[in-house]
Parts: sequence; C-alpha cells; structure tokens
Amino acid sequence: AKAAGGNRYEVADPDSDARAITRHGLTNRLPTALERGEFFIEYQPLIRLADGSVQGAEALVRWCHPLHGVLGPDQFIPLAESTGQIVPLGRWVLQESARQAREWQRRSADGLPVRVNVNLSPCQLYHPGLVDEVAAVLEETGLDPTALCLEVTESALIGADEDALKPLRRLVDLGVDIALDDFGTGYSNLSSLRWLPISNLKLDRAFTRGIRQHPADPVDLKIVEGIVSLAHTLGLTVTVEGVETRTQAEHLGLLGCDTAQGWYYARPGPPDHLHTLTLADAMS
Ligand code: C2E
Ligand code: CA
Ligand code: CA
Ligand code: CA
Repeated sequence: AKAAGGNRYEVADPDSDARAITRHGLTNRLPTALERGEFFIEYQPLIRLADGSVQGAEALVRWCHPLHGVLGPDQFIPLAESTGQIVPLGRWVLQESARQAREWQRRSADGLPVRVNVNLSPCQLYHPGLVDEVAAVLEETGLDPTALCLEVTESALIGADEDALKPLRRLVDLGVDIALDDFGTGYSNLSSLRWLPISNLKLDRAFTRGIRQHPADPVDLKIVEGIVSLAHTLGLTVTVEGVETRTQAEHLGLLGCDTAQGWYYARPGPPDHLHTLTLADAMS
C-alpha cells in the first residue's frame, strides 16, 4: 500500500478494484482483527491557545488491514457499530490510550498527568458495562481520572433523556471529563448545553473553514465568537478542530477559544511524537 491521490489510506495497487474494500470482506475480518493486533492508535496533540503548550492528545484508531493497508476510522467504525464490534474495540482503545497517557506522565519532566481524549460511539454510551469498564481501566492503569476526557458526539446526545444521561453523570462523578464532539454539525440545540454533563465543547471544523484565510469571513468570526461566549458563560471550555492555517490559529485565539487541534500544529501520529512535542514545549 502506498499513498494515492488525496487519500493517504488508499491502496495503490492495480488489483485494488478486484479487491475492492467490500463491506463483506471487512465484516469477515473485523471480529478477529482485535486479537490479531491489527488495530493501532495515532495521537493528535491538543494545544492550549493561550501559550501554545500541549494539553494532551486525542486518540484516533486505525486498522492495519493485511490486504487493504491502513484504514481510517471512517472506513470501519460505522461497520463496527452495526455489528456490535465497537464495544470490544472501544474498550481496547480506552485501555490502550489510558496506558499510553500514564506512560507519557511517567516520562514527563514534571510528572504531571497528561490528558488523553477518547472517542465514545453511541453504542458504547448505551452499553450497560461502560461506567464499570472506565473505572476498571483507571484502576488498572493508575491514570488520574481528570486526565481522561471522553468525547461524545452531539448527535448521540441530542434527544437523550435523563436515563440515557445517567452513565455520563456517573463518569463525571468518577472525575472524568466529557466533551461534546462535532458541535455544530447536526441540529444543535443550544439550550441542551445547559443541562448536559459536559465540560468541553469541540467545534467542528466546518465552523472554522471560513476563517482559514485572510480576510476571514466576518459572519463566521461572529458565529464562533458567539458560541465561545455562550460556552464560557455556561462554564464550558471550547476546543476548535481542523485548524490548518496560522490565520485560523490567530483568529481563534483572539476569539477566546481555549484549545485547538489540527494539521497546523500536528497531524495524528505515533505516541512518541507527542512526547517530543511535550518535551520541546517544556524546554522552551
Ligand atoms: P473526530 O473525532 O472529529 O476526529 C477528528 C478527525 O479530524 C480525525 O480524523 C483527524 O485526523 C481529523 N483532523 C485533525 N486535524 C485536521 C485538520 O487540520 N484538517 C482536517 N481536514 N482534518 C483533521 P480521523 O482520524 O480520520 O477520524 C475520523 C473520525 O472517526 C473521528 O472524528 C471520530 O469520530 C472517529 N473515531 C476515531 N477514532 C475513534 C475511536 O477510537 N472510537 C470511535 N467510536 N470513533 C473514533
Ligand atoms: Ca473526537
Ligand atoms: Ca470532532
Ligand atoms: Ca468529525
């Protein structure tokens, strides 16, 4: 497999048509892929806009498929959700990310916890064992609960009733943070921000597209400014996703966003990549 076209996960192989990534092929392989050790995690740094320091990283899962090469989550997470495989896979991602965050902490100069953000799919959220699993992972790895942030998409929570929010409240009781992911992509119910047990809002990159270049779109600037102001009023921090240019980073800092994530700072990469950034940061 090698990079092809605009998609670095495409397989450049003349036979690739014949071996088209069929849903069927992936479905067969998915149940055993975990025990075969075919999944791995890349980490993308989260940057504090106030001082440019590394706050932590988001864990993003990849599947190193023997035939198709490296597959991105968009190519197999929906499948894993429909087959229920997401539950064991998500548990593995959580375990592995927590272990890694603990390792970063061990190796950091100040010994302080390094935050890791882990995505939770709706199936995991509504799986009865979730809270106990998270508690067990924290216990086994010795990771400080405040160093774990679970990202839940807006679409998974909109319309959720009080029962559905119970596991989230219990996670918050454990000391874990909940972030509302992909905010602004679906039907956003602003008033829900008031009662959801979240502490961080992740603004989808669709929001920041209009401020990628000079001159920035004045309406897009106003929209982000309004959301940041509302979020801060409600005691939430704001993370912006998909920051690709310096212009964006500067504007978003001025608009009061707290944290940023994107190619401008770093692409998702192996765990050591974050350690280097953290060290470089501590030494500057
Ligand atoms: P997400 O949670 O919104 O993650 C951010 C996505 O944006 C990642 O795509 C990341 O590589 C990409 N990205 C980061 N910076 C930039 C940028 O500057 N520009 C652009 N254009 N893109 C950027 P990725 O890794 O392909 O993941 C896609 C989605 O798959 C994630 O979206 C998340 O919803 C899901 N996902 C990833 N890992 C997991 C997991 O372990 N469990 C679950 N349930 N879902 C996961
Ligand atoms: Ca996410
Ligand atoms: Ca997101
Ligand atoms: Ca997204």
